[in-house]
Amino acid sequence: MKNYLSGAALITLLSTQSVLAADNVVLITIDGVRWQEAFSGISAALATHEEYSDVAGQLMAEFWHDDPAQRAQKLMPFLHNTVMSQGTVVGDHSKGSCAVLTNDWNFSYPGYNEILSGVINDAINSNAAVPNPEKTVLELLSANPAFAGRMAAFASWNVFPAIYNVERSGIPVNIGLSDQPATEFEEMLNTLHADVSPHWPTVRHDAFTHHYALSWLKRTESRLLHIAYGEPDDFAHEGDYDEYVVATRRVDGFIEDVWNTLQSLDYYKDNTAIFITVDHGRGEQPLESWLHHASKRAVENYMSGLAADYPQGIIGSENIWMAAMGPGVPANGLLPTRECLGANQIAATLLHWMGEDYTQYNPAMGKPMTEFLPR
Ligand SMILES: [Zn+2]
Repeated sequence: MKNYLSGAALITLLSTQSVLAADNVVLITIDGVRWQEAFSGISAALATHEEYSDVAGQLMAEFWHDDPAQRAQKLMPFLHNTVMSQGTVVGDHSKGSCAVLTNDWNFSYPGYNEILSGVINDAINSNAAVPNPEKTVLELLSANPAFAGRMAAFASWNVFPAIYNVERSGIPVNIGLSDQPATEFEEMLNTLHADVSPHWPTVRHDAFTHHYALSWLKRTESRLLHIAYGEPDDFAHEGDYDEYVVATRRVDGFIEDVWNTLQSLDYYKDNTAIFITVDHGRGEQPLESWLHHASKRAVENYMSGLAADYPQGIIGSENIWMAAMGPGVPANGLLPTRECLGANQIAATLLHWMGEDYTQYNPAMGKPMTEFLPR
């Protein structure tokens, strides 16, 4: 029996298909926010620890609740109120939902390379700003005319130009002043960026990363944007749990801002998906290990300063989390996983969302995660 679609049925079919995929993607990374905070909120032991917090009373008043779910909602309200109900989230390791790094180091550069290229490379064994031998998904897509010139990255950490191998890839990666401020707002950001004291020599304030990125999103028709927030990790390394908590809360608000901006612009509305993840976890036990992240192999090599106290590495720092929402992303909420999902599967998942076959770009990538795809 032949089956002829009427014009109306065909239009219905086409419009149904069009919402099954994202035309555009915003990838958001947050450096080193633990799954423990993302899914259970603040730790009372750390928030009230005299060495790690100067404002225990304030932290507890603003972020504590006896119920872990409500506690997590206070720390990351957008993640829990919106992404959890409209999208898919994995990585609450206490509930059988597992996401991990597949690289053998558990620190930043190998983590970002894995997320962005979908492959691991043993030559990436430090955080030194060495040009990446691997190609990021942005570099791979830049050979495709539908994407060329319509991708960018905005990052707080100054190693990102090397991670993107900007000399080879030509991907615009902003880590400082805008070279060509396109609006009055960007000129003002440049003025403030030059005049506000940086807290770290290698990481700028996330507020600059966020507002430059948002401004770029508004004035371009972007296909793939990466926003790399960095403050939480640096505060954690300094042992400032109070600042780590406040910076994490701030980034959750930034992500809400990105989402609301996407929905307010015709070009992005209802055809742009967001993917949120972290480049590594941190320690949990013993308590003071929350400052660090490193594998056993890392403490035997690049992070040898940790070897005396942590000869086995920082246990659990390979544990990460992922969250996504947007057209084509099922509303699974927190999803238990049969096997651990790997950070090396993110790049292929983003490609799949945008209708691209990862095997045409780099068949060595981890496979797309069905958990984040339409059923
Ligand atoms: Zn990191």
